[in-house]
Amino acid sequence: MTQMSQDELRIFEKPVISCHDVDALLDDYVEGSLAPSLDERLSAHIDCCEYCRENEELYREVITIAGEIGKEQPQMSLGAKNRLRSALNKELGLKLPLVS
Ligand SMILES: [Zn+2]
Repeated sequence: MTQMSQDELRIFEKPVISCHDVDALLDDYVEGSLAPSLDERLSAHIDCCEYCRENEELYREVITIAGEIGKEQPQMSLGAKNRLRSALNKELGLKLPLVS
């Protein structure tokens, strides 16, 4: 079993997951890298929350776009990735976490 990140642990210990928690873990969720128990709780929340469902769909689109950009620019720097994420956050109203 992979080790949980700080965010995962913090949210794992909460009795109820909020939209903010889903935002914090959305990239791991979409990549399928969450611990199974957390993954189930997120998907249960997303199933009955329109806000998070839209966010998830947008995020999947963003990943597809970013993947295509990545293919063209394999040397994309962290700064460039973060600028892209910031721009997407601003344009689409997302809350993608910046990479470090
Ligand atoms: Zn939600």
